[in-house]
Amino acid sequence: MYDKKIHIAPCGIVCNLCLGFQREKNKCVGCTILGSKPPRCEICGFKQCMEKKGNNIAYCDECPKFPCRRMKNLEKRYSLNYGESPIENLKSMRKSGIETFSTLMIQNWKCPQCGALLCVHRRNCLHCGAQNEHFLKRKHTS
Ligand SMILES: [Zn+2]
Repeated sequence: MYDKKIHIAPCGIVCNLCLGFQREKNKCVGCTILGSKPPRCEICGFKQCMEKKGNNIAYCDECPKFPCRRMKNLEKRYSLNYGESPIENLKSMRKSGIETFSTLMIQNWKCPQCGALLCVHRRNCLHCGAQNEHFLKRKHTS
């Protein structure tokens, strides 16, 4: 039903929960995978920043500047609008390892109706239309 392998981007966003990754048209392969990505992701500030740093850093939390201003802005945007915390994701991945982190993310974001992963960017499950409770609980109300 869903991809059991969780892809976590260097910034801590879980690709599997992203609209770009879940949609059928212009589907993104995931941030850390080589292949076609939406133009928006090609010009991503995090991606360009990592490229500048070479191969020494795989995830933003390894950077001496973490959490930088860009990271703090992303954190604010995602936690307020979508109920996902990129910083907590990175912490959780470090603490429990990628396998356990994947299991936790799947448990947390599984659609109660169809079992597919919900999309952080959408009010409803892309697969069956069930309501995304995380979206309803978001702090941002306007
Ligand atoms: Zn569903």
